[in-house]
Amino acid sequence: MNAYRPTLSPSPDMSQIQTESPLAPPDVPPTVWEMVSRAIVLMLVVAAGFYILGAMASMNLNPVIVTAFLVNELPSLLKYQIYSIIKAFQEYDLLTMLGSLAFLMIIGSAVSLIVLEVIIYAVQCRSLSKAWKRTSLYRIIFGEQSERTDLYLYLYYCFSLDRFVIAALGILGPFFIYGLLVNGGSLNLAVNLPHFVQFLLYILLADFLAYWFHRIAHTTTALWELHKFHHSATSMNFITAHRNHPLEVAMQLPLRAIPIIALGPSVEEYLLYTALHHFVILLQHSNFNFSFGWLDHVFVSPRFHLVHHSSKPVHFDQNYGVVFSFWDDIFRSRYKGDDFDPEYGVTDNYFNNKGFVSDINVPFAKFGKALISKRKIS
Ligand SMILES: [Zn+2]
Ligand SMILES: [Zn+2]
Repeated sequence: MNAYRPTLSPSPDMSQIQTESPLAPPDVPPTVWEMVSRAIVLMLVVAAGFYILGAMASMNLNPVIVTAFLVNELPSLLKYQIYSIIKAFQEYDLLTMLGSLAFLMIIGSAVSLIVLEVIIYAVQCRSLSKAWKRTSLYRIIFGEQSERTDLYLYLYYCFSLDRFVIAALGILGPFFIYGLLVNGGSLNLAVNLPHFVQFLLYILLADFLAYWFHRIAHTTTALWELHKFHHSATSMNFITAHRNHPLEVAMQLPLRAIPIIALGPSVEEYLLYTALHHFVILLQHSNFNFSFGWLDHVFVSPRFHLVHHSSKPVHFDQNYGVVFSFWDDIFRSRYKGDDFDPEYGVTDNYFNNKGFVSDINVPFAKFGKALISKRKIS
């Protein structure tokens, strides 16, 4: 596919240099008509999104019933939104959070990755000190700005600070959660199938949606402005997996709720998938650069994902899979070459040197600008 990839270009590529050289046309402000037409399209997209959410929450496809449901629930939804912001501040309890299952899962995955890295590198290097210097932990402790940004994001998610941002931004996320809690359930679309098959369908649907969100994050300018933050890491270690812009994370919340509402997994199944997903994404970013052999066509290996992070044009717009890699075979986005020596980062890498707050704020502004600007922004 020839998806537009505005900024991931190393300097020697002439076509990209032409796109981004001073000779490129200046950023022309959109005309009133362009802004109005884009606003209409945005409103239609939001309306369609609300219809889908409303249809799932009300468990009905009839537009009249869905609209009535939404109108009826809107005051409660707004109340819930305000309530969730207040609750986020009131109920933040560090000690409880440190003992929570989510926190233990995050720390447990990190410790397993550290142990795995030491063992694998020790076998490869036959020296513990050399092995230690190749581990993610070493690079995190002694790394530079890219690693520090990774660490800030890791701590941000580790200590659930994202709840404040999501509470403030996540109209759609709480809507879904609200729908789940208030309506008490799920469509249970596969209730007649064996439990194992239901679980398999749940993780397949969750990963299928994650694949498409990731792909769209690369191919639409506005979302790319957020997702670029993840790709701005100039070195890889397992906590780079958490280097995601808070707004992008918030936008994924409703998507994650879809398979839960559609198939109604049990709490144990949800936790099992979350743990699998978490371990796989940490492993992908660990800089191991090895494949799983034939299993590479089923699961995303570190090598598969490191190619995705590469700023070499030959690697652009490929390998979007999150847990399963066969989506890239099915939708023809798998990298089929033999260059597995990626270079990390983005060309106009304004990240990593102006501090964490700037790294988070600038994508917000660029995302907003991209929503109303016709021209692709780099
Ligand atoms: Zn990506
Ligand atoms: Zn990644």
